[in-house]
Amino acid sequence: MTILLKSALDFDLIRRREITSGATWEQVLKKLGIKHERRSSGVLVALCVFHEEKTPSLHFWPSSGFKCHGCGVSYDMLGFVHLYTGGDEVFLVDFFADLPTLRWEHLNQLLLFREG
Ligand SMILES: [Zn+2]
Repeated sequence: MTILLKSALDFDLIRRREITSGATWEQVLKKLGIKHERRSSGVLVALCVFHEEKTPSLHFWPSSGFKCHGCGVSYDMLGFVHLYTGGDEVFLVDFFADLPTLRWEHLNQLLLFREG
């Protein structure tokens, strides 16, 4: 089974990393309402959302991508959210901007605020 990515996902690599920077798989899966469990290795596993199965084949690696060992779909974090939601660029940017991550610019603002 091959899943083709829509042309809406034509970000370059730097832009892709910028958008998902600071986000964790746990936050992403929680926001999408996908049940998962954490293995001792730090890998998250879930029932695949792209094919039907009874034992979890969908693996998410910390600070890396995902892969389903059942249907073979694999990609990065941005690609996962795109495939799962079908969201376009605007949706994806909003999705990640909305996550409660502590980014450097936020931290700087916080420090400036406290100093002022
Ligand atoms: Zn699958």
